[in-house]
Amino acid sequence: MLKVNQNYLKLPGSYLFSDIAKKVKGYKEEHQGEEVISLGIGDVTRPLTPTIVKALHEAVDDMADIERFHGYGPDLGYAFLREKIAEFDFKRRGCEICADEIFVSDGAKSDSGNIQEIFAETCSIAVSDPVYPVYVDSNVMAGRTGTYDPASTRWSDVVYMPCTKDNDFVPDLPSKTPDIIYICSPNNPTGIALTRDQLQTFVDYAIKNKSVILFDAAYEAYISEENVPHSIYECEGARECAIEMRSFSKNAGFTGVRLGYTVVPKNLVDAEGKSLYALWARRHGTKFNGASYIQQRAGEAVYTAEGQKEIEGLVSYYMENARTIRDGLTKAGFTVCGGVNAPYIWLKTPESMTSWEFFDYLLHNSQVVGTPGSGFGPSGEGYFRLTSFGSHENTRKAVERIVALK
Ligand code: PLP
Repeated sequence: MLKVNQNYLKLPGSYLFSDIAKKVKGYKEEHQGEEVISLGIGDVTRPLTPTIVKALHEAVDDMADIERFHGYGPDLGYAFLREKIAEFDFKRRGCEICADEIFVSDGAKSDSGNIQEIFAETCSIAVSDPVYPVYVDSNVMAGRTGTYDPASTRWSDVVYMPCTKDNDFVPDLPSKTPDIIYICSPNNPTGIALTRDQLQTFVDYAIKNKSVILFDAAYEAYISEENVPHSIYECEGARECAIEMRSFSKNAGFTGVRLGYTVVPKNLVDAEGKSLYALWARRHGTKFNGASYIQQRAGEAVYTAEGQKEIEGLVSYYMENARTIRDGLTKAGFTVCGGVNAPYIWLKTPESMTSWEFFDYLLHNSQVVGTPGSGFGPSGEGYFRLTSFGSHENTRKAVERIVALK
């Protein structure tokens, strides 16, 4: 009997951003001529920088030449890119990660969604809450999360690590020992990054309890504070307990190009000594045919001196917006965090409004679109996310409108 995967049917509602898009579309139809500014979706808006564009053009030219044409690439990615990653992102920061431990992919969404496949169905998971929804949803699809309670918006078998005003948005250690711990730092949506000591506490906990940490560092390029690690491998012992995922989307604007990578240390094993590296390599080889030669050449250009300078420019552009939002809203009396080590500003909704009530209030009274915090997990209720990926002009205008409401 043909039957769909029943786990998919457990996923509640539709995807957060399609709900937002529907509401905005409805509003625009009813209020034609009004200018709506979006500080909602976490997509970049600045174009690719000249060094990247040149590398893309050259790679396309390679593909047009019989001598320089490239078909299927090596399973784990081209050495020219993996060696640069190992050198720049890890060795330079004192992390012992070699090129062989890097798996090039088409982005951190696929990797953070797919990585759970190499673990047993019986493994339990813990997530910081609120967080990027892919971690929980991909485990729902795999049947690891138990039943969903619509009233509390919680899954019975997920260990939530609440991040709220009460703990300065830094997760406490899990209340029940999980097999798998998802950490996103700097965090989407709160914009908070764990310090080296805070992350070390999680690494020590994972080693002691034989858990694995799945560490998503997609926003690493936005870190501005010295005591915040850029990689989990800056923590002692992390090679024994952590997998790290990275993306070229937010540092170099590759959301439309697609490129990322995952690091799996070769010594990482499960409780029976089975290699996680071997399983991820097997999965990669079986289900993925690689990011294209063109994407990987563009990635290589990110690590040139000019490429580095240009992407620093992109990050500073967005971080100026982060300051505009953070300072403006703080002056207006909002309780805000984030925006220092991440392009996200997380604010407490005023007057005990729910996240969606505040979404409607902002859209109708200031024509500004943000993202309701409840879409990122139960502890996101009562909070709201604004992003700094817009233009300077629109960001300033949006902040002025929100401040004027107060
Ligand atoms: N991880 C986090 C925490 C994100 O917020 C996002 C995108 O918003 C991604 C991963 C997706 O990255 P990529 O574009 O590389 O798939």
